[in-house]
Amino acid sequence: MPKEANIADCEICKNIPQEFSSEEKILKLLTVIEMKSYYDCCGTSITKLLKCPICSTYYYYNHYSEDSHYPHHFESDSLDIRRYDPVTTIKFLEGISNSAEGTLPAPTGALKEAFAEGRQVSEPEISDKANLANAAKNELEVLTKRYENIIKNLIEIIKKNGINGKIKQYILEALCNHFMDKGKFKDLGFLLDHNDPFIRVKTAHYLVGVATLDAPVTKLIHIPPELREKFKVDFNKLIKVFFEVLSPAASAIDDPTRIDIRYTAIYGLKVLAGRIKPETLKENISNILDILKEEKLEYDVYWLLRDLIVDKKKKEEKEKNAKIILNEIEKLDEKRREILSKYENKYWSFLELKEGKGVS
Ligand SMILES: [Zn+2]
Repeated sequence: MPKEANIADCEICKNIPQEFSSEEKILKLLTVIEMKSYYDCCGTSITKLLKCPICSTYYYYNHYSEDSHYPHHFESDSLDIRRYDPVTTIKFLEGISNSAEGTLPAPTGALKEAFAEGRQVSEPEISDKANLANAAKNELEVLTKRYENIIKNLIEIIKKNGINGKIKQYILEALCNHFMDKGKFKDLGFLLDHNDPFIRVKTAHYLVGVATLDAPVTKLIHIPPELREKFKVDFNKLIKVFFEVLSPAASAIDDPTRIDIRYTAIYGLKVLAGRIKPETLKENISNILDILKEEKLEYDVYWLLRDLIVDKKKKEEKEKNAKIILNEIEKLDEKRREILSKYENKYWSFLELKEGKGVS
Protein backbone atom coordinates (compact mmCIF):
# COMPACT_ATOMS: atom_id res chain seq x y z
CA MET A 1 0.00 0.00 0.00
CA PRO A 2 1.55 3.37 -1.00
CA LYS A 3 1.88 5.97 1.73
CA GLU A 4 -1.14 8.30 2.00
CA ALA A 5 -0.67 11.94 0.90
CA ASN A 6 -0.83 14.21 3.92
CA ILE A 7 -4.00 16.35 4.14
CA ALA A 8 -2.23 18.92 6.33
CA ASP A 9 0.21 19.61 3.46
CA CYS A 10 -2.36 19.36 0.65
CA GLU A 11 -2.42 22.54 -1.47
CA ILE A 12 -6.13 22.14 -2.12
CA CYS A 13 -7.48 20.93 1.22
CA LYS A 14 -5.52 23.16 3.54
CA ASN A 15 -7.41 26.14 2.11
CA ILE A 16 -10.84 24.58 2.45
CA PRO A 17 -12.76 25.01 5.72
CA GLN A 18 -14.50 22.10 7.42
CA GLU A 19 -17.92 23.34 6.29
CA PHE A 20 -18.80 26.10 3.85
CA SER A 21 -21.18 27.15 1.11
CA SER A 22 -19.20 28.42 -1.86
CA GLU A 23 -18.84 26.70 -5.23
CA GLU A 24 -15.53 28.33 -6.08
CA LYS A 25 -13.63 26.49 -3.37
CA ILE A 26 -14.51 23.10 -4.87
CA LEU A 27 -13.52 23.68 -8.50
CA LYS A 28 -10.48 21.44 -8.23
CA LEU A 29 -12.28 18.53 -6.55
CA LEU A 30 -13.34 15.44 -8.51
CA THR A 31 -16.91 14.16 -8.53
CA VAL A 32 -17.17 10.54 -7.44
CA ILE A 33 -20.95 10.25 -7.06
CA GLU A 34 -23.72 12.53 -8.18
CA MET A 35 -27.38 12.02 -7.46
CA LYS A 36 -30.63 13.86 -7.86
CA SER A 37 -33.43 13.45 -5.36
CA TYR A 38 -36.87 14.95 -4.87
CA TYR A 39 -38.53 16.04 -1.65
CA ASP A 40 -42.32 16.31 -1.22
CA CYS A 41 -44.03 18.52 -3.76
CA CYS A 42 -41.31 20.81 -4.93
CA GLY A 43 -37.83 20.32 -3.46
CA THR A 44 -35.01 19.25 -5.78
CA SER A 45 -31.71 18.21 -4.31
CA ILE A 46 -28.36 17.52 -5.96
CA THR A 47 -26.01 15.54 -3.75
CA LYS A 48 -22.42 14.76 -4.68
CA LEU A 49 -19.50 13.02 -3.12
CA LEU A 50 -16.34 14.88 -4.11
CA LYS A 51 -12.74 13.82 -3.71
CA CYS A 52 -9.47 15.72 -3.59
CA PRO A 53 -7.22 14.72 -6.55
CA ILE A 54 -4.09 15.12 -4.39
CA CYS A 55 -4.81 13.64 -0.96
CA SER A 56 -8.11 11.79 -1.69
CA THR A 57 -10.03 13.46 1.14
CA TYR A 58 -13.79 13.33 0.61
CA TYR A 59 -16.34 16.15 0.57
CA TYR A 60 -20.12 16.07 0.75
CA TYR A 61 -21.91 18.52 -1.49
CA ASN A 62 -25.59 19.39 -1.49
CA HIS A 63 -27.54 21.96 -3.40
CA TYR A 64 -31.22 22.13 -2.55
CA SER A 65 -33.73 24.35 -4.31
CA GLU A 66 -37.43 24.69 -4.19
CA ASP A 67 -39.89 25.38 -6.88
CA SER A 68 -42.47 27.32 -4.95
CA HIS A 69 -46.01 28.15 -5.92
CA TYR A 70 -46.43 30.61 -3.11
CA PRO A 71 -44.92 34.07 -3.63
CA HIS A 72 -44.35 34.66 0.10
CA HIS A 73 -42.85 31.19 0.58
CA PHE A 74 -39.87 30.59 2.83
CA GLU A 75 -36.52 30.99 1.04
CA SER A 76 -35.24 27.41 0.85
CA ASP A 77 -32.38 27.47 -1.61
CA SER A 78 -29.29 26.16 0.18
CA LEU A 79 -25.75 25.04 -0.55
CA ASP A 80 -23.95 22.85 1.96
CA ILE A 81 -20.44 21.52 1.46
CA ARG A 82 -18.40 19.77 4.17
CA ARG A 83 -15.39 17.52 4.54
CA TYR A 84 -16.37 13.92 5.16
CA ASP A 85 -14.14 11.74 7.32
CA PRO A 86 -13.44 8.09 6.34
CA VAL A 87 -16.03 6.49 8.67
CA THR A 88 -18.80 8.86 7.59
CA THR A 89 -17.88 8.35 3.93
CA ILE A 90 -17.92 4.56 4.27
CA LYS A 91 -21.35 4.58 5.92
CA PHE A 92 -22.63 7.01 3.29
CA LEU A 93 -21.36 4.80 0.43
CA GLU A 94 -22.70 1.64 2.10
CA GLY A 95 -26.12 3.27 2.40
CA ILE A 96 -26.16 4.21 -1.27
CA SER A 97 -24.92 0.83 -2.46
CA ASN A 98 -27.72 -0.86 -0.48
CA SER A 99 -30.27 1.81 -1.44
CA ALA A 100 -30.94 2.10 2.31
CA GLU A 101 -33.50 4.61 3.57
CA GLY A 102 -32.16 7.48 5.63
CA THR A 103 -28.75 7.50 3.90
CA LEU A 104 -29.06 11.01 2.53
CA PRO A 105 -28.74 13.72 5.19
CA ALA A 106 -31.74 16.06 4.94
CA PRO A 107 -30.72 19.18 2.99
CA THR A 108 -30.59 22.34 5.12
CA GLY A 109 -33.30 23.97 3.00
CA ALA A 110 -35.65 21.00 3.43
CA LEU A 111 -34.90 20.94 7.17
CA LYS A 112 -35.81 24.62 7.60
CA GLU A 113 -38.99 24.10 5.63
CA ALA A 114 -40.02 21.05 7.68
CA PHE A 115 -39.12 22.79 10.93
CA ALA A 116 -41.28 25.81 10.03
CA GLU A 117 -44.16 23.45 9.36
CA GLY A 118 -43.52 21.36 12.47
CA ARG A 119 -42.86 18.04 10.72
CA GLN A 120 -39.99 15.68 9.84
CA VAL A 121 -38.26 15.71 6.46
CA SER A 122 -39.77 12.90 4.40
CA GLU A 123 -37.68 10.25 2.62
CA PRO A 124 -36.78 11.58 -0.86
CA GLU A 125 -37.28 9.90 -4.19
CA ILE A 126 -33.93 9.13 -5.78
CA SER A 127 -33.46 8.72 -9.52
CA ASP A 128 -31.24 6.12 -11.19
CA LYS A 129 -30.67 4.03 -8.06
CA ALA A 130 -29.09 1.03 -9.81
CA ASN A 131 -26.24 2.97 -11.42
CA LEU A 132 -25.64 4.89 -8.22
CA ALA A 133 -25.40 1.68 -6.22
CA ASN A 134 -22.70 0.42 -8.58
CA ALA A 135 -20.68 3.62 -8.45
CA ALA A 136 -20.93 3.58 -4.64
CA LYS A 137 -19.78 -0.05 -4.46
CA ASN A 138 -16.71 0.72 -6.56
CA GLU A 139 -15.70 3.72 -4.46
CA LEU A 140 -16.36 1.76 -1.29
CA GLU A 141 -13.88 -0.87 -2.43
CA VAL A 142 -11.19 1.77 -3.03
CA LEU A 143 -11.78 3.46 0.33
CA THR A 144 -11.98 0.24 2.34
CA LYS A 145 -8.53 -0.75 1.08
CA ARG A 146 -7.09 2.61 2.10
CA TYR A 147 -8.95 2.85 5.41
CA GLU A 148 -6.40 1.54 7.94
CA ASN A 149 -3.64 3.54 6.27
CA ILE A 150 -5.64 6.78 6.35
CA ILE A 151 -6.36 6.40 10.06
CA LYS A 152 -2.72 5.62 10.82
CA ASN A 153 -1.70 8.68 8.86
CA LEU A 154 -4.20 10.97 10.63
CA ILE A 155 -2.95 9.79 14.02
CA GLU A 156 0.62 10.56 12.99
CA ILE A 157 -0.30 14.06 11.74
CA ILE A 158 -2.25 15.14 14.81
CA LYS A 159 0.46 13.97 17.20
CA LYS A 160 2.69 16.70 15.73
CA ASN A 161 2.18 20.34 16.63
CA GLY A 162 1.72 23.27 14.28
CA ILE A 163 -0.96 22.04 11.87
CA ASN A 164 -3.67 24.51 10.89
CA GLY A 165 -6.94 24.80 12.84
CA LYS A 166 -9.27 23.72 10.02
CA ILE A 167 -7.35 20.50 9.53
CA LYS A 168 -7.02 19.88 13.29
CA GLN A 169 -10.79 20.00 13.69
CA TYR A 170 -11.26 17.59 10.78
CA ILE A 171 -8.70 15.10 12.03
CA LEU A 172 -9.95 15.05 15.60
CA GLU A 173 -13.53 14.48 14.45
CA ALA A 174 -12.40 11.77 12.04
CA LEU A 175 -10.50 9.98 14.83
CA CYS A 176 -13.39 10.34 17.31
CA ASN A 177 -15.69 8.74 14.74
CA HIS A 178 -13.18 5.96 14.08
CA PHE A 179 -12.58 5.05 17.74
CA MET A 180 -16.24 5.44 18.77
CA ASP A 181 -17.24 3.20 15.85
CA LYS A 182 -14.86 0.59 17.28
CA GLY A 183 -16.25 1.19 20.79
CA LYS A 184 -12.84 2.33 22.09
CA PHE A 185 -13.30 5.56 24.03
CA LYS A 186 -10.12 4.90 25.99
CA ASP A 187 -8.03 4.97 22.81
CA LEU A 188 -8.93 8.66 22.43
CA GLY A 189 -6.67 9.43 25.38
CA PHE A 190 -3.92 10.73 23.09
CA LEU A 191 -6.33 13.49 21.96
CA LEU A 192 -7.91 14.23 25.35
CA ASP A 193 -4.42 14.44 26.92
CA HIS A 194 -2.73 16.08 23.92
CA ASN A 195 -0.25 18.85 24.75
CA ASP A 196 -2.26 21.29 22.58
CA PRO A 197 -5.23 22.61 24.66
CA PHE A 198 -7.16 23.34 21.43
CA ILE A 199 -7.11 19.65 20.53
CA ARG A 200 -8.04 18.55 24.07
CA VAL A 201 -11.02 20.87 24.37
CA LYS A 202 -12.33 20.47 20.81
CA THR A 203 -12.17 16.68 21.09
CA ALA A 204 -14.12 16.75 24.37
CA HIS A 205 -16.57 19.22 22.89
CA TYR A 206 -17.20 17.08 19.80
CA LEU A 207 -17.75 13.95 21.92
CA VAL A 208 -20.16 15.76 24.26
CA GLY A 209 -22.08 17.25 21.33
CA VAL A 210 -22.70 13.88 19.69
CA ALA A 211 -23.17 11.82 22.88
CA THR A 212 -25.78 14.20 24.32
CA LEU A 213 -27.18 15.22 20.90
CA ASP A 214 -26.46 18.81 21.86
CA ALA A 215 -24.49 19.49 18.65
CA PRO A 216 -26.35 21.50 15.98
CA VAL A 217 -28.83 19.48 13.91
CA THR A 218 -26.99 20.54 10.75
CA LYS A 219 -23.97 18.65 12.08
CA LEU A 220 -25.75 15.69 13.69
CA ILE A 221 -27.59 14.73 10.50
CA HIS A 222 -24.25 13.86 8.91
CA ILE A 223 -23.37 11.38 11.61
CA PRO A 224 -25.14 8.13 10.73
CA PRO A 225 -27.60 7.10 13.50
CA GLU A 226 -25.87 3.71 14.02
CA LEU A 227 -22.59 5.58 14.67
CA ARG A 228 -24.24 8.15 16.96
CA GLU A 229 -25.51 5.33 19.14
CA LYS A 230 -21.95 4.11 19.64
CA PHE A 231 -20.87 7.36 21.30
CA LYS A 232 -20.53 5.86 24.77
CA VAL A 233 -18.20 8.30 26.47
CA ASP A 234 -16.85 8.78 29.98
CA PHE A 235 -18.42 12.12 30.92
CA ASN A 236 -16.23 12.50 34.01
CA LYS A 237 -13.12 12.39 31.84
CA LEU A 238 -14.58 15.10 29.57
CA ILE A 239 -15.55 17.27 32.57
CA LYS A 240 -11.94 16.95 33.73
CA VAL A 241 -10.65 18.12 30.35
CA PHE A 242 -12.96 21.18 30.37
CA PHE A 243 -12.02 22.23 33.90
CA GLU A 244 -8.36 21.64 33.22
CA VAL A 245 -8.19 23.98 30.20
CA LEU A 246 -9.86 26.66 32.33
CA SER A 247 -7.11 26.53 34.92
CA PRO A 248 -4.80 29.57 34.86
CA ALA A 249 -1.84 27.44 33.78
CA ALA A 250 -3.52 25.79 30.79
CA SER A 251 -3.58 28.42 28.07
CA ALA A 252 -1.14 31.25 27.55
CA ILE A 253 -2.54 34.81 27.60
CA ASP A 254 -1.15 35.54 24.11
CA ASP A 255 -2.50 32.38 22.45
CA PRO A 256 -4.83 33.62 19.65
CA THR A 257 -7.17 30.67 20.22
CA ARG A 258 -7.37 31.30 23.98
CA ILE A 259 -10.87 32.78 24.05
CA ASP A 260 -12.17 30.09 21.70
CA ILE A 261 -10.64 27.39 23.91
CA ARG A 262 -12.10 28.85 27.09
CA TYR A 263 -15.48 29.56 25.55
CA THR A 264 -15.64 25.96 24.29
CA ALA A 265 -14.78 24.61 27.75
CA ILE A 266 -17.46 26.71 29.47
CA TYR A 267 -19.96 25.62 26.85
CA GLY A 268 -19.08 21.95 27.40
CA LEU A 269 -19.49 22.36 31.16
CA LYS A 270 -22.89 23.99 30.66
CA VAL A 271 -24.05 20.98 28.65
CA LEU A 272 -22.76 18.65 31.37
CA ALA A 273 -23.74 20.85 34.36
CA GLY A 274 -26.29 18.31 35.63
CA ARG A 275 -23.52 15.67 35.83
CA ILE A 276 -20.93 17.73 37.73
CA LYS A 277 -20.57 16.49 41.29
CA PRO A 278 -20.32 18.90 44.25
CA GLU A 279 -16.78 17.63 45.07
CA THR A 280 -15.64 18.45 41.53
CA LEU A 281 -17.31 21.84 41.62
CA LYS A 282 -15.65 22.64 44.93
CA GLU A 283 -12.21 21.96 43.46
CA ASN A 284 -12.82 24.20 40.48
CA ILE A 285 -15.14 26.99 41.60
CA SER A 286 -12.44 29.59 42.18
CA ASN A 287 -11.09 29.02 38.66
CA ILE A 288 -14.56 29.52 37.21
CA LEU A 289 -15.10 32.79 39.06
CA ASP A 290 -11.66 33.93 38.01
CA ILE A 291 -12.89 33.94 34.39
CA LEU A 292 -15.28 36.78 35.26
CA LYS A 293 -12.23 38.98 34.72
CA GLU A 294 -12.47 38.23 31.00
CA GLU A 295 -15.18 40.45 29.63
CA LYS A 296 -15.95 38.29 26.60
CA LEU A 297 -16.77 35.32 28.81
CA GLU A 298 -18.61 36.83 31.79
CA TYR A 299 -22.07 36.16 30.39
CA ASP A 300 -21.23 32.49 29.80
CA VAL A 301 -19.71 32.12 33.26
CA TYR A 302 -22.91 33.51 34.75
CA TRP A 303 -25.02 30.92 32.91
CA LEU A 304 -22.66 28.12 33.85
CA LEU A 305 -23.03 29.00 37.54
CA ARG A 306 -26.78 29.05 37.19
CA ASP A 307 -26.89 25.71 35.27
CA LEU A 308 -24.74 24.10 37.96
CA ILE A 309 -27.69 24.62 40.29
CA VAL A 310 -30.73 24.52 38.02
CA ASP A 311 -29.70 21.44 35.99
CA LYS A 312 -28.99 19.30 39.06
CA LYS A 313 -31.72 16.71 39.51
CA LYS A 314 -31.01 15.46 43.03
CA LYS A 315 -32.18 17.99 45.61
CA GLU A 316 -29.26 17.21 47.90
CA GLU A 317 -26.63 17.88 45.21
CA LYS A 318 -28.52 20.97 44.08
CA GLU A 319 -28.28 22.41 47.57
CA LYS A 320 -24.62 21.46 47.89
CA ASN A 321 -23.73 23.14 44.58
CA ALA A 322 -25.73 26.24 45.50
CA LYS A 323 -23.89 26.49 48.80
CA ILE A 324 -20.46 26.14 47.20
CA ILE A 325 -21.25 28.84 44.65
CA LEU A 326 -22.80 31.24 47.18
CA ASN A 327 -19.89 30.88 49.57
CA GLU A 328 -17.43 31.69 46.82
CA ILE A 329 -19.48 34.63 45.52
CA GLU A 330 -19.44 36.17 48.98
CA LYS A 331 -15.65 36.12 48.92
CA LEU A 332 -15.46 37.94 45.57
CA ASP A 333 -13.91 41.34 45.09
CA GLU A 334 -16.20 44.31 44.38
CA LYS A 335 -15.56 44.30 40.65
CA ARG A 336 -16.54 40.72 39.99
CA ARG A 337 -19.55 41.01 42.28
CA GLU A 338 -20.74 43.93 40.23
CA ILE A 339 -20.37 41.91 37.03
CA LEU A 340 -22.48 39.12 38.47
CA SER A 341 -25.17 41.42 39.83
CA LYS A 342 -25.55 42.93 36.38
CA TYR A 343 -26.91 39.59 35.13
CA GLU A 344 -28.46 38.69 38.39
CA ASN A 345 -30.98 41.52 38.22
CA LYS A 346 -31.82 40.56 34.69
CA TYR A 347 -32.21 36.78 34.76
CA TRP A 348 -31.85 34.72 37.89
CA SER A 349 -30.67 35.52 41.37
CA PHE A 350 -27.94 33.78 43.34
CA LEU A 351 -28.60 36.00 46.32
CA GLU A 352 -32.17 34.77 46.61
CA LEU A 353 -30.64 31.38 47.31
CA LYS A 354 -29.57 32.68 50.66
CA GLU A 355 -33.19 33.01 51.61
CA GLY A 356 -33.73 29.42 50.54
CA LYS A 357 -35.49 30.28 47.27
CA GLY A 358 -34.74 28.93 43.81
CA VAL A 359 -33.25 25.63 44.93
CA SER A 360 -36.37 23.46 45.24
ZN1 LIG B 1 -6.42 17.34 -0.52
